[in-house]
Order: sequence, then structure tokens, then C-alpha cells
Amino acid sequence: MDIEKAIHNFKLRGFSVQHFAAGEEAAAYLCGQIRNTTVGIGGSKTADQLGLYEKLSEQNTVFWHWRVPGPETLKKANAAAVYITGANAMTEDGEILNIDGRGNRLAGQVFGSKKLYVVAGINKLCPDFSSALERARNVAAVENCKRFAGKQPCQVDGKCHDCRSADRICRALLVLWAPMMDMEAEVILIDEELGM
Ligand code: SF4
Repeated sequence: MDIEKAIHNFKLRGFSVQHFAAGEEAAAYLCGQIRNTTVGIGGSKTADQLGLYEKLSEQNTVFWHWRVPGPETLKKANAAAVYITGANAMTEDGEILNIDGRGNRLAGQVFGSKKLYVVAGINKLCPDFSSALERARNVAAVENCKRFAGKQPCQVDGKCHDCRSADRICRALLVLWAPMMDMEAEVILIDEELGM
């Protein structure tokens, strides 16, 4: 993947970008940037791998349903000043794709917070939109589905069937073309394979 091209295009679209060799450096950067505020985290294996809940909780009030499950946590996370999400896929043209079932993670990226951080390993970067959509549906969503019990067909053969299962976890796709109005957004790119 052409990281420099992606960084250039993210910036053209209005995203700030930070690029790190390792997840630990990215986590340290975020801990330096985010202090004395409220933070919401969307479901994100990358955030989990970076230990962001534990690290950011030292200086902030952090709401994450992966640590404290329940609707109250989800509400508070979406009302926080800062929101952190992963990405299911990103394009070299600077687009960010996420699929969600409940919608909290998508909502947090488009409304409510003042600052959005998108943390992503280099494995999320795809050459174009169609390959990014393919990754979001057939890699990220299928992997994510394994975390839940259910009768989705991807649990059987590891492929997305665009199912009509009642247990379907893929209910909406968000493509960020630019930071939302009145919201800053920063992409944290890490030269490691992270997340799903
Ligand atoms: S098969 Fe259904 S639940 Fe599984 S990835 Fe596809 S749409 Fe999502």
C-alpha cells in the first residue's frame, strides 16, 4: 500500500494525520493529546490491543462498553468530548469505512463529540473503494461476527453472504469522506497489523 499517498489524501480531505511505527508510540501520543476530558470508545479491537481504555483512564473519564457493558455506557460514550474508533477499512484516496450493527460506533463518528480519532493498523489500508468495501464485509465483519453467537452464514464458511439472518451484525455502512462539520478528525496510522 502507498501510505504516503493515503496520508496526502487524508489531509486533502481535512483529516489530520499522525503516522507511527508501533502501536505503543501511537498510544503514548494519544495519552499526551487527550487529558482531563471525557472519552468514548467504539467497539474496536485495535483500541483494545493498544490498551487505550486503561491508559486514557489515568487522565480522563473514559466510557467503553467493552469494559463496562450496558446502555448507560453507550449513551455516555456517544456524549463524550472525544470519540475514538477503529476502521474496518480505509482507502488510499482517504476514505474511512465502518460497518456496524447497533450504530453507536457510527453515530460517534458523525455527531456528538468535538474530536474524533480513528486508530488503524496498516492492514486496514486498501487501494480503492471496492477493495475497501470487500475488506470491510469479508474480513472485518466476518471476523467481528465470530465474537457473537448466532446463525449467520459467515460463521459457517467465513464469507459474507449479505445475509437476512435475524442475527445479522452488519446493519449499516458509514463512509467518512471528510471530518463532519463542527468536528475535528484525526487519523492515527500505525505500521502494524492491528484489529480485525
Ligand atoms: S453473512 Fe451476514 S452477519 Fe455475516 S458478515 Fe455477511 S451480512 Fe454480516
